Amino acid sequence: MKFTIQMAIEDEYGETKIEEIISLNKLIDNPSDIGLSIKESKSVLKSLQKIIVCQQAESYIKTHVACPCCQKKRRVKGHRTIQYRTLFGIIPIPSLRVYSCNCEEVSTQTVDILTDWLPDHNSPELQYIETKWASLMSYGLTADILKDVLPVGEALNAATVRNHLHTVAERQEKELEEKPEYLTGCPYEWGELPKPGKPMVVGIDGGYVRNWHEKNTNFEIIAGKSYSKEVAAKHFGFVQKIDKHPRKRLMNVLSKQGMQANQQITFLSDGAENLRNLQLNMYPESLHVLDWFHVTMRLTVLNQFATGLVKSDPEIGAQVKDYLQSAKWYLWHGNVERSLDKIENCSDLCDDNELHVSLRRDSSTLFF
Ligand SMILES: [Zn+2]
Repeated sequence: MKFTIQMAIEDEYGETKIEEIISLNKLIDNPSDIGLSIKESKSVLKSLQKIIVCQQAESYIKTHVACPCCQKKRRVKGHRTIQYRTLFGIIPIPSLRVYSCNCEEVSTQTVDILTDWLPDHNSPELQYIETKWASLMSYGLTADILKDVLPVGEALNAATVRNHLHTVAERQEKELEEKPEYLTGCPYEWGELPKPGKPMVVGIDGGYVRNWHEKNTNFEIIAGKSYSKEVAAKHFGFVQKIDKHPRKRLMNVLSKQGMQANQQITFLSDGAENLRNLQLNMYPESLHVLDWFHVTMRLTVLNQFATGLVKSDPEIGAQVKDYLQSAKWYLWHGNVERSLDKIENCSDLCDDNELHVSLRRDSSTLFF
């Protein structure tokens, strides 16, 4: 059985021409001949892309060969081919170089007509997919998988993906520098904003990672997630020591999710000073909460201490355990004051100096 895929191209005058994309011979009895193979699908995509892009370029050149100021036809200097890299193949596009007209305000003698049309020779979608995938897996794997499923070109390798990712990252950094670090406007203007969406929650935590180059040193990575019932969650991360604009980065993530100045926001963290500083005064309607995971982690440590105490002094140990249990219960129900009282009771009970200091230290990191 023979299949032929053709493409009909209709120009602005309604004239149609047919281009052949691919011709396939498929045997009915051969199981591997059922449907399109990956190789054929790549070939179809590449041919389609080539025809579409080249037709568009041709049409662009036709309408832009004249001087943009006086509409006089510009003299042709020569031809050249641009390699346009897309997800569906590297497309050679014939371009035209013309002498610039006397009335044009350009610094060069000649102009390439397609320069304005294609300032970047890598398509935005290709850069988007490369960057997105390379942020989730290695550069090499990204190149291999892309080549497996799409006609991106055999030349694609880890170094190309890495270079593209860095270009995108540098552009994003530049864009971030122009963004505000604090909310713009004033409380009066915030009050005039439209009704805000559902409250947002931002969870932030820090973790230490070993430095690859100096194995005996660590650096801290701050990572987090922001979400609400109405918008999809967004993740963010940065290295505070290196990042020049951590607050801008966070503000940018939130504003991309449609966060408004008059919207309620809850920050969850372990209360570490650097995280608190990041959140402080960020939004007028913000609330800072120690997240329960970190609270219980501290309480568990205190409980272990109390279990040890039971062995040496059963009576005091049992009482400390009771107080800790109450402290946890009050905390869970939002009664910080009563909870602090209970912790204070624990401290009072342990009048042994060493015991006292240890409990104090643990409880003061819990409530600050
Ligand atoms: Zn002119």
